[in-house]
Order: sequence, then structure tokens, then C-alpha cells
Amino acid sequence: MIARSALETERRNATALNDAAIAELAQQFRGELIRPGDTQYDAARAVWNGAIDRHPALVSRCTGIADVQAAVRFARERDLLVAVRGGGHNVAGTAVCDGGLVIDLSPMKGMFVDPAARTARAQAGLLWGEFDRETQAFGLAAPGGIISHTGIAGLTLGGGLGWLMRRHGLAADNVQSADVVTADGEYLRASDEEHADLFWGLRGGGGNFGVVTSFEYRLHNVGPTVLAGVMLHHAAKAREVLRFYRDFIESAPNELTTIVVLRMAPPAPFFPPSVHGQPVVVIGACYAGSVDEGERVIAPLRRFGEPLVDLIQPTPYVSHQSLFDPTAPHGLGYYWKSEYVPLLSDALIDTLAERAWGVATPESYTIIFHLGGAVGQQDPGGSAFEDRRAAHAVNIDAVWSEPGQASACIAWTRELWEAVRQYSTGRVYVNFLGEEGQDRVRAAYGEAKYERLRVLKRTHDPTNFFRLNQNIRP
Ligand SMILES: Cc1cc2nc3c(=O)[nH]c(=O)nc-3n(C[C@H](O)[C@H](O)[C@H](O)COP(=O)(O)OP(=O)(O)OC[C@H]3O[C@@H](n4cnc5c(N)ncnc54)[C@H](O)[C@@H]3O)c2cc1C
Repeated sequence: MIARSALETERRNATALNDAAIAELAQQFRGELIRPGDTQYDAARAVWNGAIDRHPALVSRCTGIADVQAAVRFARERDLLVAVRGGGHNVAGTAVCDGGLVIDLSPMKGMFVDPAARTARAQAGLLWGEFDRETQAFGLAAPGGIISHTGIAGLTLGGGLGWLMRRHGLAADNVQSADVVTADGEYLRASDEEHADLFWGLRGGGGNFGVVTSFEYRLHNVGPTVLAGVMLHHAAKAREVLRFYRDFIESAPNELTTIVVLRMAPPAPFFPPSVHGQPVVVIGACYAGSVDEGERVIAPLRRFGEPLVDLIQPTPYVSHQSLFDPTAPHGLGYYWKSEYVPLLSDALIDTLAERAWGVATPESYTIIFHLGGAVGQQDPGGSAFEDRRAAHAVNIDAVWSEPGQASACIAWTRELWEAVRQYSTGRVYVNFLGEEGQDRVRAAYGEAKYERLRVLKRTHDPTNFFRLNQNIRP
């Protein structure tokens, strides 16, 4: 069922997007143009979060900069609502709109690795799994996320937390330049040397300032084999395990990035059946250095308590990058709330131990990202990304497969989030925001950065042409 407002928007767009107008666009466009009624329409409008059900008037599947320019100019001339799609993964579903035009970059998967310079130029439709496959052919990698089917574009523009961040910084910290189509349909390259103000805003400021068509990343030697994987403890031991974990990571070297997940153990084939469905504390680890050194570093973690399973072992980096993929399939319903915290205090640990397993569905979970290291050592004012002081980002993620489960799932997330937010730094990672309103966008950046981003927005997008995002209002 299309909502009434969606129908009204569609009707309004029908005039702007009649056959003649689309035929005119088609003359300047190399990729596919997909409209309601076309066989590919439902696939083209679907995003990762199955709870998002929006009906754009047109999806323009771009093949390169010229297509992006044509789509931007077409939308601007007709005053169309525009959504920009990279990997289509954002939980808020801002990659698709009701009525209006989707500028879909997913066909743009070109990539060029320069192993001598240790850089890669990557088009904005790539997913992290596709990106890693190319860089790992040379034993290189750029910091990405923890799920291989997330888009490089949205993740990088918001900052980019992942398995290599404590060693090599955020995804955004490793961008050397970005090719951008502006709200006027002009092309420019942003870097420290050209359009440096825009370059500052692109690294953390999301999709507010233009369509990024490609990024140039700095690469690092990684693997191809790394010491990585997960270990599981029973949730009955959560308090002891999380306190030990907190003290252990306090002195961990930058090479080690860990992630904790509080959930019911999924029925993954690599877990013994006796563990399936049990409430567990999952400690994930990736050591971005030699395997032997990594073994020495994680030895105390292996020795602590009685893990139900210990699967931290030498493993191909690309395999580790997709280890969590089955826990985040496309098309289920998702609702997230997130906060940065300065530390895992005893009180926060107690709150999590009491409530994190009160989930409405076994697929729901709480995930604790481990920041610090190289993330915290960069200049906090050097890019739009916030918050480099935080020790962790805590995400409370509800997941459901039946629409009838949604309200109980959302209620669990909100209640646990209310309990957790008293321990927050006051900031939230912009890429983990849902549709939460302007106060939360301001909270993501803090007042000083938000004001700087506003000035930038007034310069580069004064009419707020790019507004389906965590919006900086000009
Ligand atoms: C399962 C899952 C796992 C995740 N894991 C991590 C993680 O480990 N680390 C992390 O940091 N984040 C993670 N995220 C959050 C992720 O960074 C954001 O959802 C991000 O927006 C995804 O990028 P995308 O290109 O796939 O998104 P899309 O939904 O395609 O885009 C989101 C928004 O980004 C903007 N955008 C996208 N592409 C462009 C472009 N080329 N030019 C301009 N604007 C653009 C647009 O405003 C768009 O609305 C995860 C998300 C999911 C769903």
C-alpha cells in the first residue's frame, strides 16, 4: 500500500516527470532509467532496511560522472526531490524517496589500485567486500566497516568505523581526495589542496554537499592473513566478562580492534549446536599486525574465564570482513539507537548485563564498537567527524522478520537506549542515526562543528537540494 502522502507526491511529480521529460533525460543518459511499472522497479527501490517502503517516481542508475551531472541538472530544473544511493544500507532509508528522483550510483563499481603508491581510486557504487577483494589482491586494505555489503560511499562520508580503525584511522581519515558533482551539476575534486573546506566537510558530514562519484583512499599493508575471529562467553557471566574486557583493552595496542556483541548466539554452522540460541557475549577481534604478535597480545583474553567457543585464529582478512554478514541480511525490519560513551563504567556494564538480552526477537542485539587508538589520535578539528574522545559507540539494534514484531522490537531498543544514554558523551555517530530529527543531527556534530557545516552548506548547497540525509540545514 502506498501511503497517501506518497501518492500525492507521485501525482505532483507526474507532471514534472512525464514521458517527454524522461525521453529528454534518456538522450543524455547512458545508464538505466527505471519507472513505476518497470519489471526492475521494486528491486531498484528496495534498500537494506526492509521497514523502508518508498516509491520514487524515477530511479536513474548512473554509469559515471556524466550521468550523475545529467540527473542532478534534470532534478534541479524540475525542482524534484532527490535521494542519493551508494550501497543502500543506511538504516534511515535516505537512499530512496517517495516521488522524486533516486540518483543511484550502484552500477559505478570501477576501481584502480596503484600498489606502488599504495592508493586506490574507487567509484561510489562499490561495497566494502568488492573494494577489499581488489586491494587484498595486493595485500593492501583501507579501513572499512564490519559488514561486507555496506556501501563504501555512505560509510566513508559519515566517518567509517571498522576492524582497522584503531591502527589506521577511520575510512574518512584515509581519503586523499574525492570527486564531487555539486548541487549545480558541476564537477570538482576536493582534497587538502583543492576545495579544502569542502574536503573537511565530506569527511564526516555525510551526503550534504554533493554527489561523490569516487574516492581516492590511502592503503596499508594488511594480511592477507590476520589473527581475527570471535569468542563467546555465556551471558550469565556478562558482568565479569565485560569488566575484564574493559580493563584488557585499556592497554591494548592500536593494532588490536575489538567489537563486543550482546545477543542470542545465531545458528551459524561454525558454532557448536549446543551454543545456538544461548544468550552470549561475543568478543570479536582483529589484529592488524603479525599473527605471532597478535597471539601474544590476545593471550590474556583467551585465558580469561571459560569461553563457550574461541574462534580467534589466523584467517584471511576478506573472510573476517564478512564474518558478521549473516547477522545483517537485506530486507528484514531494522530500528537502531546509538550513543558514544567515554568508557564502559561499572554502572553501564550493569545496565547492559540486566537488559541487553531482554530482546523481542533473537536476531536483535547490542553492539559495542571499540574506538580510541588511531581514531582518537587524529586532530579532532581536522574533519567534520565527531567524536574522537569516545571510547565506544554503543548501538542497540532491533531486528524483525514479521511486521507484527516491529512495535515490541522498537520498544526494546528505545527502553535500553533511554537507560544507556545517561552514560553518553552527548554525541552520536551520524551513520548510526535513524530518522531522529534535527536535535540528534546537532548532537552528532556538536554546536561548533554543526555551525561550520552550516556555513559550508550555505556555500555549496544553499537551496538544500541534497536534503535526504542527516540534514545540515543551510
Ligand atoms: C548492516 C550494517 C552494518 C554497518 N556497519 C558499519 C560499520 O561497521 N561501520 C560504520 O561506520 N558504519 C556502519 N554502518 C552504517 C553505514 O556507515 C551507513 O549506513 C552508511 O550510510 C551506509 O552507506 P551506503 O552507501 O551503503 O548507504 P546509502 O543508504 O546508499 O546512503 C546513505 C546516505 O549517504 C549519502 N550518500 C551515499 N552515497 C553517496 C555519494 N556517493 N555521494 C553523496 N552522498 C552519498 C546519502 O545522503 C544517502 O542517503 C552499517 C550499516 C549497516 C546497515
